[in-house]
Amino acid sequence: MPQINCSFCGRRKNEVVLLLSGIDAHICNYCIEQGHQVVLEETKPRQNETTAEASFNLIKPIEMKKYLDQYVIGQDEAKKVMTVAVYNHYKRLMQPKTDDEVTIEKSNIIMVGETGTGKTYLARTVAKILQVPFCIADATVITEAGYVGEDVETILTRLLQAADYNVEAAERGIVYIDEIDKIARKSDNPSITRDVSGEGVQQALLKLLEGSVVNVPPQGGRKHPDQKLIAVNTENILFICGGAFDGIDRHIAKRINTRPIGFSGDRRLNETFEKGHLMRYVSAQDLKSFGLIPELIGRLPVLTYLEPLNQDALLRILTEPRNALTKQYEKLFNMEGIKLYWDDSALEYIVDQAMQYKLGARGLRSICESIITDAMFELPSDEDTKEFTITRQYAMEKFGKSTLHLLKSVA
Ligand code: ADP
Repeated sequence: MPQINCSFCGRRKNEVVLLLSGIDAHICNYCIEQGHQVVLEETKPRQNETTAEASFNLIKPIEMKKYLDQYVIGQDEAKKVMTVAVYNHYKRLMQPKTDDEVTIEKSNIIMVGETGTGKTYLARTVAKILQVPFCIADATVITEAGYVGEDVETILTRLLQAADYNVEAAERGIVYIDEIDKIARKSDNPSITRDVSGEGVQQALLKLLEGSVVNVPPQGGRKHPDQKLIAVNTENILFICGGAFDGIDRHIAKRINTRPIGFSGDRRLNETFEKGHLMRYVSAQDLKSFGLIPELIGRLPVLTYLEPLNQDALLRILTEPRNALTKQYEKLFNMEGIKLYWDDSALEYIVDQAMQYKLGARGLRSICESIITDAMFELPSDEDTKEFTITRQYAMEKFGKSTLHLLKSVA
């Protein structure tokens, strides 16, 4: 019997793990692997050449808002402003590079709104719609170069990580910078020369927002002389900044020449409504009075606000979105063969508690957990229970026993 060899490398059958036969030739496992590598290498440039159009999923503002509506309750104004800005930003990326005089500028976004009103959630959902890399960075951990803390470049490290180190993908990603208000200048007086956590950080951020090539340490941390840096061009990265800007209502009130609300009359009653009401009028000038430097404000041309969430909104958040908390628990119980029901009065109780925490929708999850944990602990072992209803009485009892409840009494 003639000796069978790999027709590519000549190895004999007994020297290889596998030999595939074709019509007139054979190929061994080593050559298949090598061939596969070659195919990967050869098709890589072609992947890079794909147009921007193909590398993200751009849908029109109205459709984008409809999609957002499935997840984020209310905040119509913010959704509208944001979908338009995002749409324009990505249209800008699809523009062929010509000598056309009209260049579309980047529309980085800044959102003002109390904590837990959905700022991060909006940004994250938009990134999900577009299918682009997304990361969240906290402005408070950034410090000026030379001080203890993180370099501003590490923000991009996270984006690179989210993009699996695909630089090209990262360069059209979205970065959400949280707590931008915490790096405000402590005083509106520019003569302050040392303000480590304030103006210096704003200056450092400018570098990113402006659209420049930034050398990013791939593993984060401080730049190390031996570390190989990755060059990332921020020109097409969309930056969305968010902050609670606690007290900005006073600046707005002062500017529009009304008395700051909450100083007279029933303060607690008026506060939520009036604050939300005033927030609508927030302008770049108020951000400046709050302590953001004009250069930074200039790089965040799209400004929008998020309404404080009232009882009604919290109730909807609990039950309506596609992945609403109550639906998630129902699913978990369902997997145990148990039907979970919530009494309306129990839901109202949860919302009431959340309102007292002033954590927006953020408090809902921990409150629900504290109520439902016992049931989730016991019921999987209870073969007889096929349905379970959370009543107001049950919710009150469980929540009353939780440490969360104690926290509230301290607050
Ligand atoms: P922020 O960034 O404004 O402080 P987040 O976006 O992080 O608040 O909100 C915290 C959580 O609360 C989100 O993950 C989301 O589950 C929920 N949430 C907040 N606002 C809304 C909203 N308007 N609609 C639906 N869920 C919301």
